[in-house]
Amino acid sequence: MKIVLIGIQGSGKSTQGNLLSKKLKVPYLSTGHILRDLAKQKTPHGRYIKEILNTGVLLPDEEIIPIVEKYLERLEYKNGYIIDGFPRTVKQAKVFNGGIDQVIYLNVSDKEALWRLSYRHDPEREDDETLVAIRKRIEIFHKYTKPVLDYYRKKDMLIELNGEEDINKIHKDILEKVTKK
Ligand code: AMP
Repeated sequence: MKIVLIGIQGSGKSTQGNLLSKKLKVPYLSTGHILRDLAKQKTPHGRYIKEILNTGVLLPDEEIIPIVEKYLERLEYKNGYIIDGFPRTVKQAKVFNGGIDQVIYLNVSDKEALWRLSYRHDPEREDDETLVAIRKRIEIFHKYTKPVLDYYRKKDMLIELNGEEDINKIHKDILEKVTKK
């Protein structure tokens, strides 16, 4: 089973992705996590990625696409995966070209996401969870990722959920919809 998770930062994608991964026994991966790992390299490329992460802008399609494609070639993802953070643009969505089964959108208002993030402290994201970077990511979501939702909606692949509900309820709803489709 190949599943995509979409939502703004703070929408609960990684929480739900990890819960779903355990339940379905399908590995979870996140592009943000992959990039934060690459940003640790003390090379010009590592520093470039770090700069992108800290400002909240997107890595260009022609750079992120090969990184993700290479990752997904790994044996552990052969039988399926739950991917969080990709695709974020329509161009990226076209890369999958029919290769995924479902897309889950966790719909959370900007206000709720900002509220949640103001209370969250993720040591892995110390440098990139500034208010400026978070606001930039939200702005980019509306501009570039909302069209991805329309793209999947037209293909009848989109499962849209209210991400402001209780964690366990969302998990239950996802499971029900994913196994039913
Ligand atoms: P995230 O952890 O999903 O919030 O991602 C953190 C940052 O990684 C984003 O703000 C982007 O700079 C970069 N990033 C992650 N996924 C993508 C993607 N699919 N396309 C471009 N940039 C990405």
